[in-house]
Amino acid sequence: MYDIVIGLEIHVEMKTKTKLFCGCSTEFGAAPNTQVCPVCLGLPGTLPQVNKEAISLAIRAGGVFGSTIQPISQFSRKNYMYPDLPKAYQITQYQEPICIGGGIEVMREGERVMIRLERIHMEEDPGKLMHPEYEFFSLADYNRSGIPLIEIVTKPDLRSPEEAVEFLKALRTQLEFAGISDCRMEQGSLRCDANISLKEPGTEILGTRVEIKNINSFREVQKALEKEVKRQSDLLRFGEGEKIVQETRKWDTGKGRTISMRSKEDAEDYRFFDDPDLPVIQLTQGQIEAAQADLPTETAIQRRERFQMSYGLSEEEATKLTEDAVLARLMDQAGEGHSDPRKVATWILTEGLCLYRSGEGFRVDASTLLVLLETVESGGLSHSAAKQVFESLWKIGGTVDDTIQVLGLQQNSDQDELTDLIAKIVAENPQAIAEIRAGNGKAFGFLMGAVMKETKGTANPKIAKALIEAELKR
Ligand SMILES: [Zn+2]
Repeated sequence: MYDIVIGLEIHVEMKTKTKLFCGCSTEFGAAPNTQVCPVCLGLPGTLPQVNKEAISLAIRAGGVFGSTIQPISQFSRKNYMYPDLPKAYQITQYQEPICIGGGIEVMREGERVMIRLERIHMEEDPGKLMHPEYEFFSLADYNRSGIPLIEIVTKPDLRSPEEAVEFLKALRTQLEFAGISDCRMEQGSLRCDANISLKEPGTEILGTRVEIKNINSFREVQKALEKEVKRQSDLLRFGEGEKIVQETRKWDTGKGRTISMRSKEDAEDYRFFDDPDLPVIQLTQGQIEAAQADLPTETAIQRRERFQMSYGLSEEEATKLTEDAVLARLMDQAGEGHSDPRKVATWILTEGLCLYRSGEGFRVDASTLLVLLETVESGGLSHSAAKQVFESLWKIGGTVDDTIQVLGLQQNSDQDELTDLIAKIVAENPQAIAEIRAGNGKAFGFLMGAVMKETKGTANPKIAKALIEAELKR
């Protein structure tokens, strides 16, 4: 067995309206090359101008993770030629990044461990290349070119693939809570590269480091790291002299394995130098404090523990709810307004979570959710009808009353109509009636279920129950 040593480099798109060095929009999803100008296309003779909002968000990121903000930092040019980078250099920060140090806590064997950050620096995103299958050309979209990024670099403090994922989840929620990025991995606004090496237990000497690029979801991070650990330990144990090479490997999601991309370049290959077009960034204490005003003070672990304590949730429930800032906020706002916050949590987890994960909108707010729960509790809506209302509120929005009207779920309290229906159901289910008489409670639930199915969940549950009981006494 070898010890695993992992360091991460995370690229995060900051939530600015415009790009880092020009006024082009950063909106996601526009037609290719419609959000470009001479600056972000890298045309000769253009001059970049720094976006103040981006600097301010980078300072906030440093604040969230406890980094030191450097009063003086600088942009450099990282030179390389690739079609996604028409200037043939990327503007980034090299020797003087805006933030140094800091860290994020994760749990390791029940103890809190600080995963230290090396630095956070700003840089511009390159464009995006697409390689259509079976074609002899590639396509370039420069809408992304120049979108402001922060790159968060950790020290090699992570000890397992699971820990790397926990770290990333904590990082993401903190960035979302602080309004720095919306961290949508599926849209590429949070991307992760991992450096991984193995070492003999008890020694401090790290093995050869391999970088894995192109990992685009938390699940893939875990899979890619597990595969790479296995590949390296197999090489060390059975490689018969074949060595681990220092290289960059690409994670192939489809094939579920890493593939060698190129031997790893060193910093000198990029011929970094200070960008002569951009002034040094000088920050006063006042500017730093202003950018860090109203930062969330709670860490991801603290939030999870508070959810367990104040809302009476299990660790698993609290973890699921706090992994995402949107859900955590909904829980906090609705939980405050309800006498039994567990009920709120149950609705969000059982009905909301999969809707949320499927990406189908998020249009329900805390007060609407509370109105819905109240309607169910007062008997004004059956549970199954409430589920339909919830789904519609989540996807489309609107008020509880309007949604009930639109979906035709007004509760049916028409005694005559229900009596006829129940008589029919009882007549059709002699087996269930016999079981109820023999004391089987489940069979009663079966009849209720049949009534709800026939009425599409609109039967008033109290009235339906009373009518079934009356019918059984006949
Ligand atoms: Zn532009």
